[in-house]
Amino acid sequence: MSAKNTLETLAKALLSGDVKVVDLTAPLGPDTPLIKLPPEIGKNTPKIEVHTISNYDKDGPFWAWNWFKLGEHSGTHFDAPVHWITGKDHPNNTTDTIPVSNFVAPVCVIDCSAEVAKNPDFLLTADGVKAWEKNHGAIPKGAWVLMRSGWSKRNGSEAEFLNADNTGPHSPGPTVDCINYIIERGAIGWGVETVGTDAGQAGGMDPPFPAHNLMHKANRYGLASLVNLDQLPATGAVLIAAPLKFVRGTGSPLRVLALVPNS
Ligand code: MN
Repeated sequence: MSAKNTLETLAKALLSGDVKVVDLTAPLGPDTPLIKLPPEIGKNTPKIEVHTISNYDKDGPFWAWNWFKLGEHSGTHFDAPVHWITGKDHPNNTTDTIPVSNFVAPVCVIDCSAEVAKNPDFLLTADGVKAWEKNHGAIPKGAWVLMRSGWSKRNGSEAEFLNADNTGPHSPGPTVDCINYIIERGAIGWGVETVGTDAGQAGGMDPPFPAHNLMHKANRYGLASLVNLDQLPATGAVLIAAPLKFVRGTGSPLRVLALVPNS
């Protein structure tokens, strides 16, 4: 099929509903849960603030508009390679310079929700990815790999979402060998339902925070705080994840969409 025919077929399928658009984005506002780093590690991103400029009133009689205060790494957001020290020297490693062709890609979804329901500290390993590949085929080069954990069901409550106690946050994520394996496969990015791309306890891994350290070292991307991953097939969907074109941005809140066959 020619590229033109492919697009015509896709346009028809979108109109008919044979291909549906699924929103993988959590609501973004003052109640959005944000990561809380212990003070000895570093500063935190500020709470999101929304301020009215006018609301059809004396400050603007016919229009409403707002301005907001918003950290780059807030809510459903994209991590650019420059976010981590290991990725700081790559070319095209910021939100304004990443090639746009990388913002539309096939997506593999690895369902770990049963394991995470039993153990919030569940870690997906390279062997876990290989077991998934036995059932669904090899992760194609250039694909996003998403860890479906069910964690987004906690997104309405910051305490439940962060799930921290006196030993730190307890939330699922990848092992070092998992990230090394998907990089070897040629994955373009790693996405999760949790507040960040790494597990709550990933500060104790070697290297610490492997989804950040290793993915960004490989000039690849991250997506955090995704929702609705239970509406995606294991393979066969297309992910659209385009961060705002912040100049030299290390990340960006974004609307993440998936094109999914309506089965
Ligand atoms: Mn981030």
